Amino acid sequence: MQTLFLDASRPEDIQTAGAILSSGGLVAIPTETVYGLAANALDPAAVEKIFAAKGRPHDNPLIVHICALEQWAPLVTQLPPAALRLAEAFWPGPLTVILPRSERVPAATSAGLPTVSVRFPAHPAAQAVIRAAGTPLAAPSANPSGRPSPTRFAHVRADLTGKVDALLDGGDCGVGVESTVLSLVGPVPRVLRPGGVTLEQLRAVLGDVELDPAVEAPLAPGTAPASPGMKYRHYAPRAPVTLVDASPADYAAYVNRQPGVRALCFTEDLPLLTVPAVSYGGRYRPEEQARGLFAALYRLDEAGEAPILAHLPAKRGVGLAVFNRILRTAGFSVKNPTGRLLVGLTGPSGAGKSTLAAAWARSGWQVVDCDALTRRPEVYDADCVARLMAAFGADIAPNGVLDRRLLAQRAFAAPEPKRLLESIVFPKILAALDRELERAFAAGADLVALDAPTLFESGLDARCARVVVVTAPEADRLARICARDGLSEAEARRRLAAQPPESFYRDRADAVLENGPGDDLAAQGLAFAAVLRRELEARR
Ligand code: AMP
Ligand code: MG
Repeated sequence: MQTLFLDASRPEDIQTAGAILSSGGLVAIPTETVYGLAANALDPAAVEKIFAAKGRPHDNPLIVHICALEQWAPLVTQLPPAALRLAEAFWPGPLTVILPRSERVPAATSAGLPTVSVRFPAHPAAQAVIRAAGTPLAAPSANPSGRPSPTRFAHVRADLTGKVDALLDGGDCGVGVESTVLSLVGPVPRVLRPGGVTLEQLRAVLGDVELDPAVEAPLAPGTAPASPGMKYRHYAPRAPVTLVDASPADYAAYVNRQPGVRALCFTEDLPLLTVPAVSYGGRYRPEEQARGLFAALYRLDEAGEAPILAHLPAKRGVGLAVFNRILRTAGFSVKNPTGRLLVGLTGPSGAGKSTLAAAWARSGWQVVDCDALTRRPEVYDADCVARLMAAFGADIAPNGVLDRRLLAQRAFAAPEPKRLLESIVFPKILAALDRELERAFAAGADLVALDAPTLFESGLDARCARVVVVTAPEADRLARICARDGLSEAEARRRLAAQPPESFYRDRADAVLENGPGDDLAAQGLAFAAVLRRELEARR
Protein backbone atom coordinates (compact mmCIF):
# COMPACT_ATOMS: atom_id res chain seq x y z
CA MET A 1 0.00 0.00 0.00
CA GLN A 2 1.19 3.51 -0.88
CA THR A 3 1.40 5.62 2.31
CA LEU A 4 1.03 9.38 2.07
CA PHE A 5 3.18 11.58 4.35
CA LEU A 6 1.30 14.60 5.69
CA ASP A 7 2.31 17.56 7.85
CA ALA A 8 -0.02 18.65 10.68
CA SER A 9 1.08 22.29 10.36
CA ARG A 10 -0.35 22.47 6.79
CA PRO A 11 -4.14 23.11 6.64
CA GLU A 12 -4.39 21.39 3.22
CA ASP A 13 -2.79 18.25 4.71
CA ILE A 14 -5.39 18.24 7.51
CA GLN A 15 -8.11 18.39 4.83
CA THR A 16 -6.47 15.50 2.95
CA ALA A 17 -6.37 13.42 6.15
CA GLY A 18 -10.05 14.25 6.80
CA ALA A 19 -11.03 13.22 3.27
CA ILE A 20 -9.20 9.88 3.52
CA LEU A 21 -10.92 9.18 6.84
CA SER A 22 -14.41 10.12 5.69
CA SER A 23 -14.05 7.79 2.73
CA GLY A 24 -13.14 4.85 4.98
CA GLY A 25 -9.32 5.03 5.04
CA LEU A 26 -6.72 4.81 7.82
CA VAL A 27 -4.56 7.74 8.99
CA ALA A 28 -2.06 7.83 11.87
CA ILE A 29 -2.59 11.12 13.74
CA PRO A 30 -0.80 12.92 16.56
CA THR A 31 -2.61 13.38 19.89
CA GLU A 32 -1.34 14.81 23.18
CA THR A 33 -1.02 11.28 24.65
CA VAL A 34 0.51 9.06 21.92
CA TYR A 35 0.06 8.78 18.14
CA GLY A 36 -3.29 7.20 17.21
CA LEU A 37 -4.28 5.05 14.25
CA ALA A 38 -7.56 6.61 13.17
CA ALA A 39 -10.59 5.46 11.17
CA ASN A 40 -14.25 6.49 11.00
CA ALA A 41 -15.63 5.12 14.29
CA LEU A 42 -19.13 4.75 12.82
CA ASP A 43 -18.06 2.69 9.78
CA PRO A 44 -17.57 -1.02 10.64
CA ALA A 45 -15.50 -1.68 7.51
CA ALA A 46 -13.10 1.19 8.31
CA VAL A 47 -12.81 0.04 11.92
CA GLU A 48 -12.01 -3.49 10.78
CA LYS A 49 -8.96 -2.08 8.93
CA ILE A 50 -7.55 -0.82 12.26
CA PHE A 51 -7.68 -4.30 13.79
CA ALA A 52 -5.99 -5.71 10.68
CA ALA A 53 -3.22 -3.07 10.47
CA LYS A 54 -2.35 -3.35 14.17
CA GLY A 55 -2.85 -7.09 14.48
CA ARG A 56 -5.16 -6.16 17.36
CA PRO A 57 -7.23 -8.96 18.94
CA HIS A 58 -10.89 -8.54 18.00
CA ASP A 59 -12.07 -8.55 21.61
CA ASN A 60 -10.08 -5.39 22.44
CA PRO A 61 -12.35 -2.34 21.96
CA LEU A 62 -11.36 1.03 20.48
CA ILE A 63 -11.63 4.51 21.94
CA VAL A 64 -13.85 6.94 20.01
CA HIS A 65 -12.42 10.46 19.61
CA ILE A 66 -14.62 13.55 19.31
CA CYS A 67 -13.86 17.24 18.75
CA ALA A 68 -16.99 18.80 20.33
CA LEU A 69 -19.12 17.88 23.34
CA GLU A 70 -22.26 17.67 21.15
CA GLN A 71 -20.76 14.63 19.45
CA TRP A 72 -20.91 12.65 22.70
CA ALA A 73 -24.66 12.29 23.37
CA PRO A 74 -25.46 10.41 20.12
CA LEU A 75 -22.81 7.77 20.95
CA VAL A 76 -24.23 6.81 24.37
CA THR A 77 -27.64 5.91 25.81
CA GLN A 78 -27.23 8.23 28.80
CA LEU A 79 -24.99 11.09 29.86
CA PRO A 80 -25.06 11.19 33.70
CA PRO A 81 -24.12 14.35 35.64
CA ALA A 82 -20.78 12.80 36.66
CA ALA A 83 -19.85 12.48 32.98
CA LEU A 84 -20.54 16.14 32.37
CA ARG A 85 -18.54 17.16 35.45
CA LEU A 86 -15.59 15.15 34.11
CA ALA A 87 -15.88 16.75 30.69
CA GLU A 88 -15.97 20.17 32.30
CA ALA A 89 -12.85 19.44 34.37
CA PHE A 90 -10.68 17.42 31.96
CA TRP A 91 -11.80 17.85 28.34
CA PRO A 92 -10.26 18.40 26.00
CA GLY A 93 -7.55 16.20 27.52
CA PRO A 94 -6.17 12.73 28.28
CA LEU A 95 -9.32 11.20 29.85
CA THR A 96 -11.50 8.47 28.27
CA VAL A 97 -14.98 7.87 29.71
CA ILE A 98 -16.89 4.59 29.33
CA LEU A 99 -20.74 4.68 29.19
CA PRO A 100 -23.47 2.44 27.72
CA ARG A 101 -23.23 2.39 23.91
CA SER A 102 -25.99 3.68 21.60
CA GLU A 103 -27.11 2.03 18.35
CA ARG A 104 -25.10 4.61 16.40
CA VAL A 105 -21.80 2.97 17.37
CA PRO A 106 -21.06 -0.25 15.47
CA ALA A 107 -20.49 -3.31 17.68
CA ALA A 108 -17.09 -3.79 15.99
CA THR A 109 -15.81 -0.46 17.41
CA SER A 110 -16.53 -1.65 20.97
CA ALA A 111 -15.52 -5.26 20.25
CA GLY A 112 -19.10 -6.32 20.93
CA LEU A 113 -19.32 -4.74 24.39
CA PRO A 114 -22.53 -2.92 25.39
CA THR A 115 -20.40 0.14 26.25
CA VAL A 116 -18.40 2.75 24.37
CA SER A 117 -15.30 4.65 25.45
CA VAL A 118 -15.08 8.30 24.35
CA ARG A 119 -12.35 10.94 24.53
CA PHE A 120 -12.06 14.58 23.45
CA PRO A 121 -8.33 15.02 22.73
CA ALA A 122 -6.56 18.33 23.42
CA HIS A 123 -4.12 18.19 20.50
CA PRO A 124 -5.12 20.88 17.96
CA ALA A 125 -4.21 18.66 14.97
CA ALA A 126 -6.28 15.76 16.35
CA GLN A 127 -9.26 18.09 16.77
CA ALA A 128 -8.77 19.56 13.29
CA VAL A 129 -8.64 16.11 11.67
CA ILE A 130 -11.82 14.94 13.44
CA ARG A 131 -13.53 18.15 12.27
CA ALA A 132 -12.27 17.68 8.72
CA ALA A 133 -13.41 14.03 8.69
CA GLY A 134 -16.86 15.12 9.87
CA THR A 135 -17.20 12.03 12.08
CA PRO A 136 -15.93 10.70 15.41
CA LEU A 137 -12.73 8.67 14.93
CA ALA A 138 -11.77 5.37 16.49
CA ALA A 139 -8.06 5.67 17.26
CA PRO A 140 -6.04 3.16 19.29
CA SER A 141 -2.34 3.74 19.71
CA ALA A 142 -0.55 3.60 16.35
CA ASN A 143 1.71 0.63 17.16
CA PRO A 144 1.56 -3.01 16.14
CA SER A 145 -0.38 -4.73 18.94
CA GLY A 146 1.81 -5.59 21.95
CA ARG A 147 4.63 -3.17 21.09
CA PRO A 148 5.47 0.18 22.73
CA SER A 149 3.17 3.05 21.77
CA PRO A 150 4.69 5.67 19.47
CA THR A 151 5.26 9.16 20.89
CA ARG A 152 7.54 10.42 18.08
CA PHE A 153 6.69 10.65 14.38
CA ALA A 154 9.80 8.64 13.43
CA HIS A 155 8.41 5.65 15.37
CA VAL A 156 5.05 5.82 13.57
CA ARG A 157 6.85 6.01 10.23
CA ALA A 158 8.97 2.98 11.08
CA ASP A 159 5.97 0.92 12.27
CA LEU A 160 3.22 1.81 9.78
CA THR A 161 4.68 2.88 6.43
CA GLY A 162 3.07 0.69 3.75
CA LYS A 163 0.28 -0.46 6.09
CA VAL A 164 -2.00 2.62 6.19
CA ASP A 165 -3.21 5.34 3.81
CA ALA A 166 -1.46 8.29 5.44
CA LEU A 167 0.72 9.42 8.36
CA LEU A 168 0.27 12.90 9.81
CA ASP A 169 3.44 14.34 11.34
CA GLY A 170 2.66 16.46 14.43
CA GLY A 171 6.03 16.25 16.21
CA ASP A 172 6.47 14.74 19.68
CA CYS A 173 3.54 13.87 21.97
CA GLY A 174 3.36 15.99 25.13
CA VAL A 175 1.91 13.53 27.68
CA GLY A 176 3.59 10.41 26.36
CA VAL A 177 1.35 7.74 27.92
CA GLU A 178 -2.17 6.87 26.82
CA SER A 179 -5.31 8.41 28.27
CA THR A 180 -6.78 7.50 31.63
CA VAL A 181 -9.69 5.08 31.01
CA LEU A 182 -12.53 5.62 33.51
CA SER A 183 -15.70 3.52 33.58
CA LEU A 184 -18.93 5.18 34.73
CA VAL A 185 -20.92 1.99 34.16
CA GLY A 186 -20.61 0.41 37.63
CA PRO A 187 -21.83 1.70 41.01
CA VAL A 188 -18.52 3.54 41.71
CA PRO A 189 -16.41 5.26 39.02
CA ARG A 190 -13.47 2.98 38.28
CA VAL A 191 -10.10 3.59 36.64
CA LEU A 192 -9.39 0.71 34.26
CA ARG A 193 -6.16 2.22 32.98
CA PRO A 194 -4.23 5.09 34.61
CA GLY A 195 -3.00 7.84 32.28
CA GLY A 196 -2.45 11.55 31.88
CA VAL A 197 -5.30 12.50 34.25
CA THR A 198 -4.37 11.25 37.72
CA LEU A 199 -6.41 9.35 40.29
CA GLU A 200 -5.90 12.28 42.67
CA GLN A 201 -7.39 14.69 40.08
CA LEU A 202 -10.37 12.39 39.42
CA ARG A 203 -11.09 12.04 43.15
CA ALA A 204 -11.02 15.83 43.52
CA VAL A 205 -13.91 16.02 41.03
CA LEU A 206 -15.89 12.81 41.69
CA GLY A 207 -15.09 11.92 45.31
CA ASP A 208 -14.96 8.14 45.46
CA VAL A 209 -13.04 6.56 42.56
CA GLU A 210 -11.80 2.95 42.55
CA LEU A 211 -8.68 1.60 40.93
CA ASP A 212 -9.19 -1.67 39.08
CA PRO A 213 -6.87 -4.30 40.63
CA ALA A 214 -5.57 -5.19 37.15
CA VAL A 215 -3.81 -1.78 37.05
CA GLU A 216 -1.16 -2.94 39.52
CA ALA A 217 -1.16 -6.72 39.31
CA PRO A 218 -1.66 -9.50 36.79
CA LEU A 219 -5.21 -10.82 36.44
CA ALA A 220 -5.81 -13.98 38.41
CA PRO A 221 -6.16 -16.92 35.98
CA GLY A 222 -9.75 -17.30 34.81
CA THR A 223 -10.81 -13.76 35.82
CA ALA A 224 -12.67 -11.72 33.21
CA PRO A 225 -10.96 -8.32 32.79
CA ALA A 226 -13.03 -5.15 33.20
CA SER A 227 -11.16 -3.77 30.22
CA PRO A 228 -10.23 -6.35 27.58
CA GLY A 229 -6.93 -4.58 26.85
CA MET A 230 -5.75 -5.49 30.35
CA LYS A 231 -5.25 -9.13 29.58
CA TYR A 232 -2.66 -8.70 26.84
CA ARG A 233 1.13 -8.38 27.17
CA HIS A 234 1.80 -4.85 26.19
CA TYR A 235 4.25 -2.09 25.37
CA ALA A 236 7.02 -4.64 25.05
CA PRO A 237 10.39 -4.23 23.32
CA ARG A 238 12.08 -7.31 21.84
CA ALA A 239 14.48 -7.74 24.75
CA PRO A 240 13.24 -9.17 28.06
CA VAL A 241 12.64 -6.53 30.75
CA THR A 242 12.84 -6.96 34.53
CA LEU A 243 11.82 -4.20 36.91
CA VAL A 244 14.21 -3.58 39.78
CA ASP A 245 12.82 -2.26 43.07
CA ALA A 246 15.78 -0.60 44.76
CA SER A 247 17.28 2.73 45.79
CA PRO A 248 19.44 4.44 43.14
CA ALA A 249 22.57 3.26 44.99
CA ASP A 250 21.40 -0.36 45.25
CA TYR A 251 19.99 -0.34 41.69
CA ALA A 252 23.32 0.74 40.22
CA ALA A 253 25.31 -1.69 42.37
CA TYR A 254 23.06 -4.58 41.30
CA VAL A 255 22.90 -3.70 37.59
CA ASN A 256 26.65 -3.15 37.37
CA ARG A 257 27.21 -6.70 38.67
CA GLN A 258 25.04 -8.39 35.99
CA PRO A 259 26.91 -9.47 32.86
CA GLY A 260 25.57 -8.32 29.46
CA VAL A 261 22.58 -6.28 30.62
CA ARG A 262 21.31 -2.80 29.78
CA ALA A 263 19.67 -0.24 32.05
CA LEU A 264 16.39 1.66 31.61
CA CYS A 265 16.92 4.12 34.39
CA PHE A 266 16.41 7.57 35.90
CA THR A 267 18.61 10.47 34.86
CA GLU A 268 20.17 10.41 38.35
CA ASP A 269 21.26 6.78 37.85
CA LEU A 270 23.26 7.46 34.68
CA PRO A 271 26.55 8.55 36.35
CA LEU A 272 26.39 5.52 38.69
CA LEU A 273 26.06 2.93 35.91
CA THR A 274 28.82 1.11 34.02
CA VAL A 275 26.47 -0.77 31.60
CA PRO A 276 24.79 0.73 28.48
CA ALA A 277 21.94 2.83 29.83
CA VAL A 278 18.96 4.87 28.60
CA SER A 279 17.16 7.25 30.93
CA TYR A 280 13.38 7.66 30.83
CA GLY A 281 13.28 10.75 33.07
CA GLY A 282 14.25 12.16 36.46
CA ARG A 283 13.51 10.08 39.57
CA TYR A 284 11.15 12.73 40.94
CA ARG A 285 9.66 13.81 37.60
CA PRO A 286 6.73 11.54 36.69
CA GLU A 287 5.56 13.79 33.82
CA GLU A 288 9.04 13.62 32.30
CA GLN A 289 9.07 9.82 32.76
CA ALA A 290 5.69 9.56 31.00
CA ARG A 291 6.96 11.67 28.09
CA GLY A 292 10.19 9.67 27.85
CA LEU A 293 9.24 6.06 28.53
CA PHE A 294 8.10 4.82 25.12
CA ALA A 295 10.84 6.70 23.24
CA ALA A 296 13.40 5.09 25.59
CA LEU A 297 11.94 1.65 24.82
CA TYR A 298 12.22 2.33 21.07
CA ARG A 299 15.85 3.40 21.54
CA LEU A 300 16.67 0.24 23.47
CA ASP A 301 14.95 -1.81 20.78
CA GLU A 302 17.10 -0.24 18.07
CA ALA A 303 20.27 -0.83 20.08
CA GLY A 304 19.99 -4.60 20.50
CA GLU A 305 18.42 -7.48 22.34
CA ALA A 306 20.39 -7.71 25.59
CA PRO A 307 18.16 -8.02 28.69
CA ILE A 308 16.94 -4.75 30.19
CA LEU A 309 16.90 -3.98 33.92
CA ALA A 310 14.46 -1.12 34.49
CA HIS A 311 14.41 1.06 37.59
CA LEU A 312 10.98 0.95 39.26
CA PRO A 313 9.17 4.34 39.22
CA ALA A 314 7.12 5.83 42.07
CA LYS A 315 3.35 5.34 41.74
CA ARG A 316 2.10 8.81 42.66
CA GLY A 317 0.35 11.15 40.19
CA VAL A 318 1.14 10.37 36.55
CA GLY A 319 3.73 7.97 37.99
CA LEU A 320 0.92 5.41 38.42
CA ALA A 321 0.47 5.36 34.64
CA VAL A 322 4.24 5.05 34.12
CA PHE A 323 4.31 2.18 36.63
CA ASN A 324 1.33 0.48 34.93
CA ARG A 325 3.03 0.60 31.49
CA ILE A 326 6.50 -0.41 32.60
CA LEU A 327 5.04 -3.27 34.67
CA ARG A 328 3.44 -4.70 31.49
CA THR A 329 6.63 -4.08 29.55
CA ALA A 330 8.28 -6.33 32.12
CA GLY A 331 5.50 -8.92 31.98
CA PHE A 332 4.94 -8.23 35.72
CA SER A 333 8.41 -9.37 36.71
CA VAL A 334 9.66 -7.19 39.59
CA LYS A 335 12.69 -8.00 41.71
CA ASN A 336 14.06 -6.47 44.89
CA PRO A 337 17.75 -7.50 44.79
CA THR A 338 18.53 -6.49 48.40
CA GLY A 339 15.54 -8.17 50.03
CA ARG A 340 14.92 -5.05 52.10
CA LEU A 341 13.43 -1.58 51.84
CA LEU A 342 15.12 1.47 53.22
CA VAL A 343 12.49 4.18 53.57
CA GLY A 344 13.43 7.86 53.83
CA LEU A 345 11.09 9.75 56.16
CA THR A 346 11.14 13.52 55.81
CA GLY A 347 9.05 16.68 55.67
CA PRO A 348 8.99 20.19 57.10
CA SER A 349 9.68 20.79 60.81
CA GLY A 350 6.77 20.13 63.13
CA ALA A 351 4.91 17.93 60.65
CA GLY A 352 5.15 14.81 62.80
CA LYS A 353 8.00 12.70 61.43
CA SER A 354 8.95 11.39 64.85
CA THR A 355 5.35 10.45 65.66
CA LEU A 356 5.24 8.32 62.53
CA ALA A 357 8.70 6.90 63.19
CA ALA A 358 7.53 5.84 66.65
CA ALA A 359 4.46 4.11 65.19
CA TRP A 360 6.65 2.21 62.72
CA ALA A 361 9.12 1.29 65.47
CA ARG A 362 6.23 -0.15 67.54
CA SER A 363 5.22 -2.29 64.56
CA GLY A 364 8.69 -3.82 64.32
CA TRP A 365 10.54 -1.50 61.97
CA GLN A 366 14.09 -0.42 62.63
CA VAL A 367 14.17 3.39 62.75
CA VAL A 368 17.34 5.45 62.48
CA ASP A 369 17.09 8.98 63.90
CA CYS A 370 19.42 10.89 61.58
CA ASP A 371 19.24 14.04 63.73
CA ALA A 372 20.65 12.11 66.69
CA LEU A 373 23.25 10.65 64.35
CA THR A 374 24.51 14.16 63.49
CA ARG A 375 25.32 14.76 67.18
CA ARG A 376 27.26 11.54 67.71
CA PRO A 377 30.86 12.04 68.84
CA GLU A 378 32.10 9.62 66.12
CA VAL A 379 31.00 12.14 63.47
CA TYR A 380 33.34 14.79 64.92
CA ASP A 381 36.56 12.84 64.67
CA ALA A 382 39.98 14.58 64.58
CA ASP A 383 39.86 14.97 60.80
CA CYS A 384 36.40 16.54 60.94
CA VAL A 385 37.36 18.99 63.71
CA ALA A 386 40.52 20.02 61.86
CA ARG A 387 38.51 20.78 58.71
CA LEU A 388 35.92 22.70 60.70
CA MET A 389 38.67 24.79 62.36
CA ALA A 390 40.17 25.57 58.96
CA ALA A 391 36.79 26.63 57.65
CA PHE A 392 35.30 28.48 60.63
CA GLY A 393 38.29 29.60 62.74
CA ALA A 394 40.59 27.80 65.19
CA ASP A 395 38.65 29.23 68.15
CA ILE A 396 35.63 26.98 67.46
CA ALA A 397 37.59 24.12 69.02
CA PRO A 398 39.70 25.40 71.91
CA ASN A 399 42.05 22.57 73.04
CA GLY A 400 40.55 20.36 70.33
CA VAL A 401 37.10 20.35 71.97
CA LEU A 402 34.39 21.56 69.62
CA ASP A 403 32.38 24.57 70.83
CA ARG A 404 29.08 23.63 69.14
CA ARG A 405 27.35 26.87 70.06
CA LEU A 406 30.01 28.97 68.41
CA LEU A 407 30.14 26.70 65.39
CA ALA A 408 26.35 26.88 65.04
CA GLN A 409 26.45 30.70 65.34
CA ARG A 410 28.97 30.96 62.51
CA ALA A 411 27.67 28.18 60.28
CA PHE A 412 23.95 28.88 60.43
CA ALA A 413 24.27 32.65 59.95
CA ALA A 414 23.85 32.43 56.15
CA PRO A 415 23.35 29.87 53.39
CA GLU A 416 26.99 29.86 52.22
CA PRO A 417 28.64 28.91 55.56
CA LYS A 418 25.79 26.42 56.14
CA ARG A 419 26.65 24.66 52.87
CA LEU A 420 30.32 24.66 53.83
CA LEU A 421 29.50 23.02 57.18
CA GLU A 422 27.35 20.43 55.41
CA SER A 423 30.06 19.59 52.90
CA ILE A 424 32.37 18.75 55.80
CA VAL A 425 29.91 17.00 58.09
CA PHE A 426 27.53 15.12 55.73
CA PRO A 427 30.14 12.58 54.53
CA LYS A 428 30.98 11.78 58.17
CA ILE A 429 27.29 11.39 58.98
CA LEU A 430 26.78 9.10 55.98
CA ALA A 431 29.69 6.92 57.10
CA ALA A 432 28.20 6.70 60.60
CA LEU A 433 24.84 5.87 59.06
CA ASP A 434 26.30 3.09 56.94
CA ARG A 435 27.80 1.52 60.05
CA GLU A 436 24.44 1.81 61.79
CA LEU A 437 22.62 0.23 58.83
CA GLU A 438 25.09 -2.62 58.62
CA ARG A 439 24.34 -3.42 62.25
CA ALA A 440 20.58 -3.28 61.58
CA PHE A 441 20.78 -5.49 58.48
CA ALA A 442 23.09 -7.94 60.26
CA ALA A 443 20.39 -8.19 62.95
CA GLY A 444 17.86 -9.14 60.25
CA ALA A 445 15.99 -5.84 59.78
CA ASP A 446 14.29 -5.64 56.37
CA LEU A 447 12.06 -2.56 56.73
CA VAL A 448 14.18 0.34 57.92
CA ALA A 449 13.17 4.00 58.13
CA LEU A 450 15.58 6.92 58.10
CA ASP A 451 14.03 9.81 60.02
CA ALA A 452 15.92 12.57 58.18
CA PRO A 453 14.84 16.25 58.08
CA THR A 454 17.45 16.97 55.38
CA LEU A 455 17.02 13.71 53.46
CA PHE A 456 17.40 15.34 50.02
CA GLU A 457 19.91 18.05 50.95
CA SER A 458 22.31 15.42 52.33
CA GLY A 459 21.95 13.07 49.35
CA LEU A 460 20.57 10.38 51.65
CA ASP A 461 17.58 9.89 49.36
CA ALA A 462 19.89 8.06 46.93
CA ARG A 463 20.18 5.32 49.55
CA CYS A 464 16.38 5.02 49.94
CA ALA A 465 14.06 2.84 47.88
CA ARG A 466 11.04 4.89 49.01
CA VAL A 467 10.48 8.39 50.32
CA VAL A 468 7.62 9.12 52.70
CA VAL A 469 6.75 12.73 53.45
CA VAL A 470 4.76 13.79 56.50
CA THR A 471 3.15 17.17 56.32
CA ALA A 472 0.62 19.32 58.17
CA PRO A 473 -0.93 22.78 57.78
CA GLU A 474 1.57 25.53 58.58
CA ALA A 475 -0.39 26.78 61.60
CA ASP A 476 -0.19 23.34 63.21
CA ARG A 477 3.50 23.00 62.47
CA LEU A 478 4.20 26.41 64.03
CA ALA A 479 2.24 25.56 67.16
CA ARG A 480 4.06 22.23 67.52
CA ILE A 481 7.52 23.77 67.08
CA CYS A 482 6.77 26.46 69.68
CA ALA A 483 5.49 23.93 72.21
CA ARG A 484 8.17 21.31 71.59
CA ASP A 485 11.29 23.48 71.34
CA GLY A 486 10.17 26.40 73.53
CA LEU A 487 10.49 28.91 70.68
CA SER A 488 8.61 32.16 70.26
CA GLU A 489 6.29 32.29 67.27
CA ALA A 490 8.72 34.64 65.48
CA GLU A 491 11.61 32.22 66.02
CA ALA A 492 9.51 29.28 64.85
CA ARG A 493 8.50 31.21 61.73
CA ARG A 494 12.16 32.00 61.01
CA ARG A 495 13.04 28.32 61.30
CA LEU A 496 10.28 27.30 58.87
CA ALA A 497 11.25 30.07 56.45
CA ALA A 498 14.79 28.65 56.30
CA GLN A 499 13.41 25.29 55.05
CA PRO A 500 12.34 24.43 51.52
CA PRO A 501 8.66 25.02 50.72
CA GLU A 502 6.23 22.16 51.36
CA SER A 503 5.98 21.46 47.61
CA PHE A 504 9.70 20.56 47.58
CA TYR A 505 8.93 17.57 49.80
CA ARG A 506 5.59 16.64 48.21
CA ASP A 507 7.04 16.54 44.70
CA ARG A 508 9.63 13.95 45.72
CA ALA A 509 7.44 11.61 47.76
CA ASP A 510 6.24 8.07 47.06
CA ALA A 511 3.60 8.76 49.70
CA VAL A 512 2.46 11.96 51.41
CA LEU A 513 0.90 11.40 54.83
CA GLU A 514 -1.21 14.23 56.23
CA ASN A 515 -0.98 15.12 59.92
CA GLY A 516 -3.42 17.96 60.35
CA PRO A 517 -6.28 18.13 62.88
CA GLY A 518 -8.55 15.13 62.33
CA ASP A 519 -5.93 13.11 60.42
CA ASP A 520 -4.85 9.74 61.81
CA LEU A 521 -1.14 9.75 60.97
CA ALA A 522 -0.34 6.42 62.58
CA ALA A 523 -3.18 4.69 60.72
CA GLN A 524 -1.95 6.09 57.37
CA GLY A 525 1.60 5.10 58.23
CA LEU A 526 0.64 1.54 59.16
CA ALA A 527 -1.47 1.15 56.00
CA PHE A 528 1.52 2.24 53.91
CA ALA A 529 3.77 -0.10 55.90
CA ALA A 530 1.44 -3.00 55.06
CA VAL A 531 1.75 -2.18 51.33
CA LEU A 532 5.56 -2.12 51.65
CA ARG A 533 5.57 -5.44 53.51
CA ARG A 534 3.53 -7.04 50.70
CA GLU A 535 5.81 -5.56 48.00
CA LEU A 536 8.87 -6.76 49.86
CA GLU A 537 7.57 -10.32 50.22
CA ALA A 538 6.40 -10.49 46.59
CA ARG A 539 9.67 -9.21 45.11
CA ARG A 540 12.32 -11.10 47.07
P1 AMP B 1 -5.54 1.83 23.06
O1 AMP B 1 -6.54 2.59 22.29
O2 AMP B 1 -4.75 0.85 22.28
O3 AMP B 1 -4.67 2.74 23.83
O4 AMP B 1 -6.35 0.94 24.11
C1 AMP B 1 -7.63 1.33 24.59
C2 AMP B 1 -7.85 0.70 25.94
O5 AMP B 1 -9.17 1.04 26.40
C3 AMP B 1 -7.78 -0.79 25.90
O6 AMP B 1 -7.21 -1.27 27.11
C4 AMP B 1 -9.24 -1.20 25.80
O7 AMP B 1 -9.44 -2.52 26.24
C5 AMP B 1 -9.90 -0.14 26.68
N1 AMP B 1 -11.31 0.08 26.31
C6 AMP B 1 -11.76 0.71 25.21
N2 AMP B 1 -13.12 0.67 25.17
C7 AMP B 1 -13.53 0.00 26.27
C8 AMP B 1 -14.82 -0.37 26.80
N3 AMP B 1 -15.94 -0.07 26.17
N4 AMP B 1 -14.86 -1.05 27.96
C9 AMP B 1 -13.72 -1.36 28.60
N5 AMP B 1 -12.48 -1.05 28.15
C10 AMP B 1 -12.38 -0.37 26.99
MG1 MG C 1 -2.49 0.64 22.71
